[in-house]
Amino acid sequence: MSLTVSRPNINNKFRITPKALDIPVRLLLGPGPSNSNPDVVAAMNRQPIGHLDPAYLDLMDEVQAMMRYVWQTENPMTLPISGTGSAAMEATLANAVEPGDVVLVGINGYFGNRLVDMAGRYRADVRSISKPWGEVFSLEELRAAMEEHRPAILALVHAETSTGARQPLEGVGDLCKEYDCLLLIDTVTSMGAVPIFLDEWGVDMAYSCSQKGLSCPPGSSPFTMSERALQKMDKRQTKVANWYLDISLLRNYWGKGRTYHHTAPVNMTYAIREALRLVIEEGLENSWDRHQKTAEQLWDGLAEMGLGCHVPKEYRLPTLTTVKVPDGVDAKAVTSKMLADHNIEIGNGLGELGGKVWRIGLMGYNSQPENVDRVLAAMAKVMAEI
Ligand SMILES: *Cc1c(COP(=O)(O)O)cnc(C)c1O
Repeated sequence: MSLTVSRPNINNKFRITPKALDIPVRLLLGPGPSNSNPDVVAAMNRQPIGHLDPAYLDLMDEVQAMMRYVWQTENPMTLPISGTGSAAMEATLANAVEPGDVVLVGINGYFGNRLVDMAGRYRADVRSISKPWGEVFSLEELRAAMEEHRPAILALVHAETSTGARQPLEGVGDLCKEYDCLLLIDTVTSMGAVPIFLDEWGVDMAYSCSQKGLSCPPGSSPFTMSERALQKMDKRQTKVANWYLDISLLRNYWGKGRTYHHTAPVNMTYAIREALRLVIEEGLENSWDRHQKTAEQLWDGLAEMGLGCHVPKEYRLPTLTTVKVPDGVDAKAVTSKMLADHNIEIGNGLGELGGKVWRIGLMGYNSQPENVDRVLAAMAKVMAEI
């Protein structure tokens, strides 16, 4: 009797003949990802080391310290989540929400709805307030909603990538403290590019991503939690309902214990470390100013072409501009042709703004005057041709 396992022919129905990897060169001026800084790509291209190697543990400390600086927070519990921005978003809710908690979400764009969806999955009693896409909430509106709903958590999107609006946050943290509520904010399209002062604003939880303002590939996402938020987590009656994102476990790896939880995406840590280092090398305020200046160049150029912006200038984001599509123009035909003929990606409108706007991102490394010239020239050409 033979002990060999019979080996079926694998070269029949499973056979494939993949070509060598071939990536087109694109200028990514949409809602994200943006192009990575070449120095970040080079950092990521190094050999991995062990995720418990002393050299790696030093990198972890550095990444945490740099994130605190870029966010302007002293929160010890500041770390990158393995995954994209949505994973860090989910980490905030998974750890802070207990079943039945009232979570109040400001919906003025696509990502408010995602927060509602996620909070519901963690069995929060989700309430919401809404504004038309492109508008922001006033402090009075937020106060009225707090009075009505008395939430345990208020969640707002600082930079709504679907609309191009920047939610002002001055005073919101004080309001939340008055109502004994945690403030959670989405800084996915603002971190590193738009002024953020988490501690000054009294923010308890925030998250971001690597592939927008930080000019890094997607996959390592900043997350932070204040002492107040940690206290809420530590008083939970139930386990965090997500093992991978459980901060009560992750803090034993990111804190002193250095206990294995999951294998860190080591090369993404190299990448985000370099991305954060580059922001600090440029100067955080210089980066904010550069984003504002480049965006103004875009807005002026659009105006010269007769194109208007959807969001009023006082709360228009520098990182993402929603451009009104002129009557009679097929918005999607323009974005397709921009990509096909010019290798430039810009975004289509989402949800309420579908077909009504284009979304032009000038984030991180891509926020440069030459890129504004390129996108304006390409848009003028494409619109003349279609
Ligand atoms: C991109 C984005 C997200 C989601 O991040 P992913 O990296 O796509 O998972 C969340 N919120 C806002 C405001 C975003 O722009």
